[in-house]
Amino acid sequence: MDFDLNEEQKMLKTNIRRFLEKEIQPIVEEYEIKSIPITKEIIKKVLPFGYIGGLLPEEIGGGNLDHITYFLMIEELSRVWPSLRAAVSTSNMILTHIYESGTEKQKEKFIEPLLKADKIGFFALTEPNVGSDTSSIEMTAVLKENHWVLNGTKTFITNGMEADMGILFAQTDKTKGGKGITAFIVDYTETTYKAKPIEKMGMHSCPTAELFFEDSLVPKENVLGEVGQGLKLAGKMLNFARALVAFICTGVAQACVDTSIKYAKERIQFGRPIGSFQLIQAHIADMLTLTSSMRLLGLQAAYLLDKELPCQREASMAKLFATEKVLQVAEKAMQIHGGYGYSREFLVERYYRDIRHFTIAEGTNEIQRLIIGRDALGISAFK
Ligand SMILES: Cc1cc2nc3c(=O)[nH]c(=O)nc-3n(C[C@H](O)[C@H](O)[C@H](O)COP(=O)(O)OP(=O)(O)OC[C@H]3O[C@@H](n4cnc5c(N)ncnc54)[C@H](O)[C@@H]3O)c2cc1C
Repeated sequence: MDFDLNEEQKMLKTNIRRFLEKEIQPIVEEYEIKSIPITKEIIKKVLPFGYIGGLLPEEIGGGNLDHITYFLMIEELSRVWPSLRAAVSTSNMILTHIYESGTEKQKEKFIEPLLKADKIGFFALTEPNVGSDTSSIEMTAVLKENHWVLNGTKTFITNGMEADMGILFAQTDKTKGGKGITAFIVDYTETTYKAKPIEKMGMHSCPTAELFFEDSLVPKENVLGEVGQGLKLAGKMLNFARALVAFICTGVAQACVDTSIKYAKERIQFGRPIGSFQLIQAHIADMLTLTSSMRLLGLQAAYLLDKELPCQREASMAKLFATEKVLQVAEKAMQIHGGYGYSREFLVERYYRDIRHFTIAEGTNEIQRLIIGRDALGISAFK
């Protein structure tokens, strides 16, 4: 078993960290405090590393990266700016779905603009009455001549305000329940809908939106995959998404560790740096142990993804562990910073706000526990 990164991965990690600290970090706080949405120009700055499409083959403009390398890049980006990570990963997910399930015409139309970030994407599954139970989607799509007519509302949609296009899931045959759900490519230039921002606790530069569709027309040829196969398509990338979350949390945890070590050396109380007190060292030791454990569980899932081996249990375990432990790490960082940790003057209060939602998003942690339990017992506690 080899725990070491290869030379290429080490170099990439160093280069990305240097680039992000120089080119991106200086603008983060102003954007987040003023809730300024991330622009395409900012996204384009990180594209050369392969954040959008990096895992796809070189022939179509991808980077041919393996999962471990891609996730290490995600860890570095999350360490600096979780909102930017969210904006690029959502577009990356749309791109991958279109690459894997799209028709030649769809690929021709959408892959290049997504790869170049000329178009930004959203992924719209959740609705006001439908979250974990995705088979109960209420939004309807009815075929009328050359168009599908969409009616319904999507909520909590990342990139929903700024996106040019997205993948959306709607019910095309109510009698079939989950097997009547279909995925559609919705392009703002072809389909009319309204978007309203949702005020949220963190990640203020990556707006989340509610999307309203009222007799909105989608061209017939924009069905992604097969009619009735939408949930199958939505589920395709779940293991990837959950492993990804483990690295997002690891990145934020690493940021907490780095800033806390710096602060513990600089802050003087009782005539000594607080880092010389054993109780502060215990906090740092716990933070490091948790951060390394998160990364290792994530790497286990990434390794299995690279080998194309089953990894549902491992991806859920990585997501579950990382999303809960990063909160402990962020709390400890706040504790080390004392009153300043609770103020906007220091970064740690943002780290906590930016990462808090991940016990809920990408499948709640209750659902992750049920997936792991089902895998262990062979008995499903839910549909
Ligand atoms: C910042 C953010 C960004 C998001 N981005 C997107 C996006 O881009 N696209 C998108 O489609 N969605 C997005 N979501 C929505 C997210 O996927 C949902 O919030 C999530 O799936 C949970 O659904 P819900 O909020 O409706 O909670 P519910 O499903 O209503 O759950 C409420 C509670 O009940 C529990 N629960 C539900 N069923 C069971 C069960 N069978 N057993 C035990 N407990 C259960 C849940 O675990 C949870 O604790 C985002 C959410 C957030 C917070």
